[in-house]
Amino acid sequence: MKKTIEKIMHRPGRPGMVGDGFRVYNYFPNSGAFLSKKISPFLMLDFNAEYNFPPTDKLRGVGVHPHKGFETVTIAYKGSVAHNDSTGNSGVINPGDVQWMTAGAGILHKEYHEQEYAQKGGPFEMVQLWVNLPKKDKLTPPKYQAITATQMGKAVLPNDKGVVNVIAGNFNGVNGPASTFTPINLWDIRLKKDAELATNIPASHNSAILVVNGSAEVNGEHAPLHSFVLFKNEGEEIQIKTTEDSVLLLLSGEPINEPVAQYGPFVMNTQEELYEAIEEFQSGKFGALQ
Ligand code: MN
Repeated sequence: MKKTIEKIMHRPGRPGMVGDGFRVYNYFPNSGAFLSKKISPFLMLDFNAEYNFPPTDKLRGVGVHPHKGFETVTIAYKGSVAHNDSTGNSGVINPGDVQWMTAGAGILHKEYHEQEYAQKGGPFEMVQLWVNLPKKDKLTPPKYQAITATQMGKAVLPNDKGVVNVIAGNFNGVNGPASTFTPINLWDIRLKKDAELATNIPASHNSAILVVNGSAEVNGEHAPLHSFVLFKNEGEEIQIKTTEDSVLLLLSGEPINEPVAQYGPFVMNTQEELYEAIEEFQSGKFGALQ
């Protein structure tokens, strides 16, 4: 049975700046509790729709800040981001790459436009997704998965009509490399004009599609540029058709049915645990980062 569409949301009205390097539309949680309830284990989606940053010799991005109790997933489409964290990990997320950072027990990191990109300037297009951790894994040691475009599972569509880069989960038998704490699918879907794709996702998963570029027909409904297609937990099959070259991001996951207590970059289960996180951050327990 085809998955039922709950709603096709348009792009939120105006972008906000995260630091001075990320000009993002927040699809959730700012759209309200309705969507947040339907999209667990995902906590937040910021989309930097394609935007031309002018050249600069300065550092542009977000300075040192903490996270605890969840994961941040950065998907680079255009432009490059340099990352450093308090566990000593660092790297550059280049176009086509994904960084999957588990903040777990607590981490400090910074996210800047990579220097060479910043000096040239030009198109920047990126998604940052926050993925919750179940209670039993919230204090897992911080870690970092640098997933390059070449490491992803690749499903090439018949007649070279496109490719599905499987970041996490399984698309039609092709596995993604990301290790996740709960069942999650995250697919970078790149379709040419007149492509057709069909797949199945369990009805129990919360699931949605972000139209990053182009447009698509999803289960018979038109999903315009930058729209967000939210599915109901009914049916399994998703059918996608295109009439132009398009890039879609599919996210799905088993919901985590546990209380969520959030204070900015800390996501725990109770208020007490939030006070503890703030105390740990202030007393330097998340390590040091310049
Ligand atoms: Mn961050």
